Amino acid sequence: MKDSHGRVIDYLRLSLTDRCNFRCVYCMPEDGVCQMDHGEILRIEEIERLVHVAASLGIRSVRLTGGEPLVRKGVVDLVRAITDIPGIENVSMTTNGVLLPQMVDDLKAAGLSRVNISLDTLDAEQFRAITRVGRLEDTLAGIDAALKAGLSPVKVNAVTVRSLNQDFLAFAKLSLDRPLHVRFIEYMPVGNAEGEGGTGWGVVDVIPSEELIERISAEAAAAGLPALVPASRSSKPVGWGPARYFEFPGAAGTVGFISPLSRHFCGECNRLRVTADGKVRPCLFSDDEYDVRAALRAGDDAAARGVLLTALGAKPDEHHDKVGTERNMSQIGG
Ligand code: SAM
Ligand code: SF4
Repeated sequence: MKDSHGRVIDYLRLSLTDRCNFRCVYCMPEDGVCQMDHGEILRIEEIERLVHVAASLGIRSVRLTGGEPLVRKGVVDLVRAITDIPGIENVSMTTNGVLLPQMVDDLKAAGLSRVNISLDTLDAEQFRAITRVGRLEDTLAGIDAALKAGLSPVKVNAVTVRSLNQDFLAFAKLSLDRPLHVRFIEYMPVGNAEGEGGTGWGVVDVIPSEELIERISAEAAAAGLPALVPASRSSKPVGWGPARYFEFPGAAGTVGFISPLSRHFCGECNRLRVTADGKVRPCLFSDDEYDVRAALRAGDDAAARGVLLTALGAKPDEHHDKVGTERNMSQIGG
């Protein structure tokens, strides 16, 4: 399926819930967001139906996200059901990792192929400050569990925020000994920047990837490590998407940089998003949404198909540096 700008759209990002066991400072306000009623959230069977319809239109990859997808009841069964849908080639997930140790074997057996784990710091106190409630050791245990279960690739996503003063070299070094693909993601202006419920986004907090690459290279040299070099095609992780990948020569993993702001990759955008309450979003940065829940609830596949195609037709050519969105990242599905 192609959009009106000629891009092939074959990737669906599905938010399973707006609920989360963390309260990350850049993602949601301290008290959490006003949660959707259970009745508003797509039921598991409705999500399955949606993926059937999407697959018939050409969607091949599905990523489950949220909120925290692992707090959604029935997530393992959903992974199994989606994996079995004709046309779907892989099912992946973005998670904070906390529940992986107890769930990863079942998820793998159900067909989950790969996982992105979000982790922004290796300092326990800073981890608590960023997530407000989380414990570093829980997310680290999630990473260990994902590797042990044989999910591949395992990517670690770190949002870079200037005022947080994260230790980026420590992160990059995670790729040295284990097949971890560390990716630095520029902080994005999603949700309210200021005021009640604001996430405090400001352009000063964005660290352009070019600057970060230089900084990590300089710190690596000072620490006696070899310079980062562009990753060879064979070492790039599957599903490499919009990241640019580097590696330390001889390392087991890679270091990637995702630059939604400093280097738009809208021209390569291949995705549609669906929120937990069944709104199709053509673009992360746009508040345009198309309701597919009513069609799914009415069991009307043709109407659901129509909604997906309308959303596809409404995909903008790029985000045009838009700042702020009505919903927070946890409500949209990051
Ligand atoms: N709870 C899961 C997790 O944290 O991986 C999945 C949902 S979370 C919204 C998905 C990703 O969005 C996380 O990697 C998170 O760090 C990222 N994210 C949230 N707010 C962001 C922002 N303002 N800018 C950039 N990334 C953001
Ligand atoms: Fe939860 Fe993920 Fe948002 Fe953190 S980034 S509050 S873990 S949804």
